[in-house]
Amino acid sequence: MSTGRVVLVGAGPGSPDLITLRGAAALGRAEVVVYDSLSCPELLELAPASAEHIDVGKRGHDAPTRGQDEINALLVRLARAGRYVVRLKGGDPFVFGRGGEEVSACRAAGVPVEVIPGVSSAVAAAAAAGIPVTDRRHAASVAVVTGHRDASRPWTGIRWDRLATGADTLVILMGMRNLEKITATLIDAGRSPETPAAVVMEAETPRQRVVRGPLHDIARRSREAGLGAPAVVVVGDVVTLSNESTGRGLAGRRVLVTRPASADDPLVAALVAAGAEPVCVPTVRVEAVAADPEPDDARRVAGCDDLLFTSRNAVRFLRERLARSGIDPATLDARVWCVGEATAEAARTSGFPRPRVPHARYQAAALLDAIRAEGPLRGRRFLFARGLRAGNTLPAGLREDGAIVDEWVLYRTVPENFDAPALAARLVRGELDALTFTSPSAVKAFAAGLGAEALEAARRSTVAAIGSVTAEALRAVGLVAHAVPERAGMGALVEALERLSRAAEEEGR
Ligand code: SAH
Repeated sequence: MSTGRVVLVGAGPGSPDLITLRGAAALGRAEVVVYDSLSCPELLELAPASAEHIDVGKRGHDAPTRGQDEINALLVRLARAGRYVVRLKGGDPFVFGRGGEEVSACRAAGVPVEVIPGVSSAVAAAAAAGIPVTDRRHAASVAVVTGHRDASRPWTGIRWDRLATGADTLVILMGMRNLEKITATLIDAGRSPETPAAVVMEAETPRQRVVRGPLHDIARRSREAGLGAPAVVVVGDVVTLSNESTGRGLAGRRVLVTRPASADDPLVAALVAAGAEPVCVPTVRVEAVAADPEPDDARRVAGCDDLLFTSRNAVRFLRERLARSGIDPATLDARVWCVGEATAEAARTSGFPRPRVPHARYQAAALLDAIRAEGPLRGRRFLFARGLRAGNTLPAGLREDGAIVDEWVLYRTVPENFDAPALAARLVRGELDALTFTSPSAVKAFAAGLGAEALEAARRSTVAAIGSVTAEALRAVGLVAHAVPERAGMGALVEALERLSRAAEEEGR
């Protein structure tokens, strides 16, 4: 029988996309994946469907499901049966992961073993809170220590007395249970009680939380805030840099998305990129105004010189309409104009030829300027694919310059039948940190669906509106938009929320 092998793969902390390319490739070849509770379940999807999954779920030291010896024996047995075994471990396999013991066991048994490093929480959890573990101005050394052993007992083998002042930055893993004792021991050994410290819990997950405070008070503060494992404790002057965070500004925030559901929604994507957990409850949906092709559909598109899109929906509904008439967008001669990059991307994927985007701002006025800059408009025939409630800036401006504008209303926004009681309950429980609105119709449907108590609760969340018209609609239902971005676009909306969230964090320090 051929011998298999054991590959120890570092999964990285928290978020599944922190695995290395090499680690992902090993998972793709796995016949068996042996993992524990700290690694992300999503990563198992990288393994072939035929791969066996074995959860050896060791949750810290409280209730080990399987002893380390048992895990070692399991790895050896699986590899001896000829299988390609991926041992997936949180963070890096060799940073307090007992990876060393697993490697030794394999070697002793003559089983081939390989290690693929991972992003360790020792560095990444701090970074997720905007803390660099070293920094030329503050720290030239960093020590990574386990807090698992009782620091008040001299026989633990950890030289806390030396570590206390021996390294500029201390990063303590598995330290939550003993945090009081650890901080007291460090202070006894000469570390200043005022040394800045931070606890970063569940870094790089939507549940990430950060608590800061001076060394003498950090244990109390994090206990009061309800923090627990898994968390990393960072001690040292570098913690003062955390407000210069380049981390993800909405980490751990639950953000309501009321816009219509769509598979590749740019707002949802921007929220995820900022570390937030989007909660999608569409209060409106878009539907075609008339589903059947009209006899003059073909003439309408064939007869235009320029085609205008100011939304992804317009692209989608025109494409669907053309498909019903058997027209391939790629065969159109017209110049295609799009208000922004997201719309242009939709046009490209739908097969419309060479969409143009004004580079300045993603607004109708900028698109109008770009079109004007291309040459005289008199007599030019524009086809404006639009929703029922599109703005008038663009067609009015074009007509002013003598263009002929055919406005084709393809879709409209209607209230969605959303689960209002469930949403109301979440609002009342204070589960949603921020609410986003990208159209007046979404605001109206939201307010119409919820009761007075839920609307009152909504006032306690941060509210963001895509622009001034939507902000006005919020005012009309008694809500205040705390964030209204100056630029258009979903990215700007998320940035505005990130700025608010940072400002609030500063205040709470
Ligand atoms: N090999 C892992 C560490 C395993 S020990 C690594 O390199 O990251 C488990 C400890 O790691 C936890 O008690 C906690 O201190 C830390 N940890 C792991 N994942 C974490 C996360 N997402 N956020 C904060 N700390 C984490």
